[in-house]
This record gives sequence, structure tokens and C-alpha cells, in this order.
Amino acid sequence: MEPATRSGGEPLIRDSDPLTGDEFPQTQAPWPARDALRITGVRPIVTAPDGIPLVVVRVDTNDPGLYGLGCATFTQRFHAVVTTVERHVAPMLIGRHPADIEDITRMVHLSSYWRGGPVLNSALSGVDQALWDIAGKRAGMPVYELLGGRVRSAAALYLHAGGASISETLDRAREILAAGYRHVRLQVGQPGLGSYGAPGTGGAYPGHPNPDGWDVQHYLRTTPELFARARAELGEEAHLLHDVHHRLTVKQAVGLVRALEPFRLFFLEDPIPLELYDRLPEVRAAAPMPLAVGEQVASVADAARLVTGGGVDLLRLHVSAVGGLTPARKLVALCELTGVGTAWHAPGDVSPVGAAANVALDVTTPAFGIQEGHLYGEAVREVFPGTLVPRDGYLYPSDSPGWGIDIDEVAAASYPPVTHLFERWAATVRRPDGGIEAP
Ligand code: MG
Repeated sequence: MEPATRSGGEPLIRDSDPLTGDEFPQTQAPWPARDALRITGVRPIVTAPDGIPLVVVRVDTNDPGLYGLGCATFTQRFHAVVTTVERHVAPMLIGRHPADIEDITRMVHLSSYWRGGPVLNSALSGVDQALWDIAGKRAGMPVYELLGGRVRSAAALYLHAGGASISETLDRAREILAAGYRHVRLQVGQPGLGSYGAPGTGGAYPGHPNPDGWDVQHYLRTTPELFARARAELGEEAHLLHDVHHRLTVKQAVGLVRALEPFRLFFLEDPIPLELYDRLPEVRAAAPMPLAVGEQVASVADAARLVTGGGVDLLRLHVSAVGGLTPARKLVALCELTGVGTAWHAPGDVSPVGAAANVALDVTTPAFGIQEGHLYGEAVREVFPGTLVPRDGYLYPSDSPGWGIDIDEVAAASYPPVTHLFERWAATVRRPDGGIEAP
């Protein structure tokens, strides 16, 4: 790619000294590598086989055929992640030994001085997971063995059941349970644009500035109705879950958890917005069911405070958004030591590589609680050979070296992303008065 230039033709970005023409020196580890293996390339690959932009980082080495893949997916801002990998992260890695995972991830994380948010951490995750993939391939071992080995065979999954009406939601839930799953998340459509996970219906609030709006009081009335019918129709054995999508005040959340008490939820997810997390202990004290929280947290320090702050039963991180496997496994250890469980975020905006990383954590920690499941389409499985496929409600890790997931770059290139579908995706729900509902 030609460098961007000022009007006079002078490059805005240089990879070499403008006076001497020498290439800028690469940062090296202050210790000699024990062999000649080196990182020779770091590049992002963007593909949208199921319509959702996925970002994967490929790290190449000077050992022919030895490369690694890591998930760097940030669907809503993927161009920013691509630029970060190409322009800022890759130059720091070329020439390093790929076994220095801890040092490389600390260097990438700390070298920007300001700690990364989701853009920088997704880029870091792509690199980090790719280095773990390489480590597994070098050892001839799946990553779960590098982490200390399994403590369980497989990760139990939950799938999403959503419908425009309670009957539709329960029909879908019955299909999921009949397919062998024991855990199902229930969401029912609301007037207006609904909530993601269930469709909405327009025009429910005539006379309001936004007749297509979403109304919190309607949601608070219908959600207990959904679970009363679910318990009556789906029986006592089914594990029922629900996602509030961060839409309640603390008082509203306390009211909802009390109203849902008779229906024995497996967990209630994200009852209040990220900005109010210091008040989670109030909600948790009132909640008879476990609270699963944290998919929007993009900082390891914030995630650690969430674990130790007494407001969370299940830590629900988007693993790539906090920087990948290396930081996530430290948070897993913290969970183990503090009695908090894990429930990683993994809908369609996690690539199959990221899903494999989630499962490696799931099967190696006693803190595992539950794993969100996603049924990838045929096109994703074409682009990512080795994509894990659930069996009887469980996801089993691949026994192949590394993640056991590859990428067909020719196929990936045939599914280019469409930017505008996701740029505004998270800010489309508005209340009847027209105000944006925070996602
Ligand atoms: Mg959620």
C-alpha cells in the first residue's frame, strides 16, 4: 500500500529514517532467543461469511508452514482494529521469538502508555491468541494442554430462544431443548425495535414522539409473564436464562429480580448499565438467582474489580475485548480464588478461533459456569475449517495442535464485510419519547 502523503508528496507515515533511509529498528527482547525461530509477518484478515464482520490475525514465522491465528473481532469498529494491527502492532513483533508470549503481550499492552480499550485490546487479542496457537503447534498439543489440561470433558452451552410473542419464544425453546441442550436463554419481543435477541413490533405508542419506541415498563411487566409460562410449559428441569441488556436502573433491576424469583433462573445477565457497576452489589443482594455480568468490559483492571467487588456471580467477558487468552487466564485464576464463575460472551461476533479459545478456558478451569453457544452457518465453517460444532448441548475442544482451527483465505476473501450494517447497530433502540436506549 502506498503511504498517505501531504499535498507536496511528503509521506505522512515513514517506516524508515528520512535522512539515512535506514529502516527503524525493531524492538527486541533483552535476552538471546534460544533458537532461530522468529516472527516474520503479522496481518489482519477481515471476512463476513455469515454477514458479521470477523477479524482474525495471522502471525507467520520463518519456519515454513508454522503460523498462528487469533481472534481480533470488534464488529462495530473493525477498520480501527485492522489499522492498529497493521500500523502499530505488527512492527513491534517482526523479529521476535513467538514463544515470548507474556513479554510480547505486556509490551503491546504497555507500549501505548494509555491502556487499551476494545480497539487496542482486540488487536492485542489477535496477536496473543495467534502466539498460543503457534505454541500449541510447536508442542504438538492442543492449547488446553498447555494451560494445565482438562478438568472436564466439554463445555455445556446455552442457546438463544427469541420470538415476537411468548408462544413463539417457547416454541423455539422447545426446539433447542429437544436438540439436546439443557440451558436456554429466553427473550420475548417488545413493542418498538424490541431488544436484540427478539424482534419488535412498530407503532405501539401512537401520539408519542416515537410511536416505534421501546418502553421499560412494558418490558418489566412482560418478562415475569414470559418466565411464568416458561416454567409451566418447559418443566422444572430446563435451565432458563435471561439477558436484560443493561437497560434498567438499580431500582428497576431490584424489582425485576424479585419478580423473577419463583422461576429459578440459571442466571440473569447484565441488569444495569456498565456505568453503574459500582452498584451491582445492591442488585445482587436482592437477587435470588446468579448475576452474569461484564461482556462490555474492555479493561483487565475493570474486570478484576468486577470479580472482587461482590456484585457478580458469573464473569461474562468478551475474551478478545480484554486482550486475549493471556489476560483472560489470569482473570480465570482470580475467579477460581474468589468463588466467581465464568460465562464467556460468544454470539456471532466471536470468530471460530475466539470460540476455540473460550472452550480452552472452559475445560481447564474449575470456575467454569456456562458457555454461550452460537450455531455458525455453512459459510463460516467453509472459511474456518475445524470450526467447533456442538454435540448434545456441549462444545468439545479440538484435540489438534493449537486451536485446531484454520482459515481458507480464498474463501474468506469471497465474503467481504459491509461496514454500515454494524456502525450504528448498538444505538438503534429508542424510547417512546425518542431518547436513545443504551445497549
Ligand atoms: Mg448480553
